[in-house]
Parts: sequence; C-alpha cells; structure tokens
Amino acid sequence: MNEIKKEYKSKMKRKWGMAIDLDKCTGCGQCSLACSQENNMPVLKDDSYNPQRVSFMEVMKVINDRDVKYPDVNVAYILKMCQQCAGDGLKPIPPCVSVCLVVATDVGDDGVVSQIWSRCIGCRYCMSACPYEARVFNWWKPEYDKRKNGPSFIDSLNPDVSVASRGTVVKCTFCSHIWKKERDKAVAAGKLDINDVLYKPACAASCPTGAIVFGDLNDPTSEVAKLSKDKRAMRLVHTIDEKSAEEQAKWRKIKNYANPKVYYLSSKQWIRDMMRFK
Ligand code: SF4
Ligand code: SF4
Repeated sequence: MNEIKKEYKSKMKRKWGMAIDLDKCTGCGQCSLACSQENNMPVLKDDSYNPQRVSFMEVMKVINDRDVKYPDVNVAYILKMCQQCAGDGLKPIPPCVSVCLVVATDVGDDGVVSQIWSRCIGCRYCMSACPYEARVFNWWKPEYDKRKNGPSFIDSLNPDVSVASRGTVVKCTFCSHIWKKERDKAVAAGKLDINDVLYKPACAASCPTGAIVFGDLNDPTSEVAKLSKDKRAMRLVHTIDEKSAEEQAKWRKIKNYANPKVYYLSSKQWIRDMMRFK
C-alpha cells in the first residue's frame, strides 16, 4: 500500500496537447457528436436555435471567399473548442482560470484546464476572459431525448461525467475523466507510474479520417509533438509564433497571454490567413 501511495504521487511529466489536420477533416461532425455523448451534453432534434445548444466542440464551415463562384469555391471545417491555454510570462495560468471566483476551473499538473460544472456559480467571468469564446453557458435545464420504445440518449448518459445543470458554464476538458479512469485502472493492475498511462479523448477516438491527434507535447517522439513542429502547424490567432525571439518575449509578458496547446495544420494559404487574421 505504501508503495502504491509513493508511486501514485510520482510527478506527472506529460503535457497533453492536440493537433488537428484541417486538410484531413471532412466536416462529418462525428467528433462533435462523440464529445456531446461522452460529456452528457444534450443533442437536440433541432439545433438551429443557438442559445439552447450546448456544445463545446463546434465544427465551423468556412469558404475561401464569400463571393467566389464554382469551380473556385474551397471549403474547410475548423473545429473550435477550448484551446487549453498554458498561459505564460508574468502569469503562467490561462485567462479563464485567473478570474474564477470559486476555483470551478483550474489547471492540473498535466496542463489540462478543467471545469467542474457542479462547482460553477454561473457568474460567467471566465466567458468574458476567454479569448477564444470557447466556453458555453447553460441557459436551460438540459433536455435529453426520451424515447418510449428503443434506445434513447438518456439511457446512455456517461456515469463518469456529471450532468451540467442550468446556470453553469461548460467547456472541453480534453476528456480528462478518461485519463483519470485509465490511471486508476493502471494502478489497480499494478502499473504505478502515472506517466505510463496514455488515453484518447472522445473526439480523437471517433474521427474517421484521423484528423485529430492527441498526445504528449513533452514527448518529442509523440505524433502530436512532431505535428506541433510541422511547417503546416499554427495556433489559432497566434501570429506571434512567427515573430523574432525578442518580440515573442515581449508579447509573452502581457497579462493573460493565452499560449494554447491546440495546434491546427493546413497547407492551404487561405485557411492559414483566415485563422490568423492576416
Ligand atoms: Fe480557458 Fe478559453 Fe483558454 Fe480554454 S481557450 S483554457 S476556456 S481561456
Ligand atoms: Fe468560475 Fe463558473 Fe464564474 Fe466561470 S462562471 S468564473 S467557472 S464560477
């Protein structure tokens, strides 16, 4: 038991990150659906009424030019969710975490920015602080499809994730409950180093084209770490990555510098320009 306790406290060396290849994404929406199912977000029959939708994995369709005509039309799908900011400079914590009054959102030693729905008091400071509009407020009590005959969504609610009530803020947590479950299983099976435990969030596990890669950014041999260094890689609205080291150092000192751990990849210049507001 003592041994378990000692090893269980072994220092987490991993830093989870994500790379999304926009040239591979077909916009099927499977990731968004898997995310809702995994995190007990209701899937509405008619999701055109935006305020009632509670989804923190958005699939945004974009085209190269509003006025462009066939055959010059080019379409892409940008997945937008919490960018899992690392923070940097004077305040190495994400913008949303620095404002939460009740520590409903925090950063773990694996770098994941968590969100505990049941602790949130709904003040929405975090929504104002988030530079990516990645957080969603539950304006209504969640309603789940309840079919009388046959399987229904409510029967498949995930017992590992609490149901978010009305008046709370939700967001992507990199499905860190999956990691915690895998970690506990590994400990029970005698594997005691938490760094042995790898996992995949629901979106990455469900993507049929392999566009979403998840893993450890601290491991230079991991696919995600290699992709983050790819020449096609960029971070959302993060143009400072291309600036000189001195310029970067200056910008990183600004209050609430985001420094996200989600990377997007594309070789198409119009997508790159759009994502970086050039
Ligand atoms: Fe917080 Fe927004 Fe950054 Fe996510 S994207 S960590 S919600 S500031
Ligand atoms: Fe914290 Fe909830 Fe307020 Fe956001 S809305 S700052 S998570 S209490």
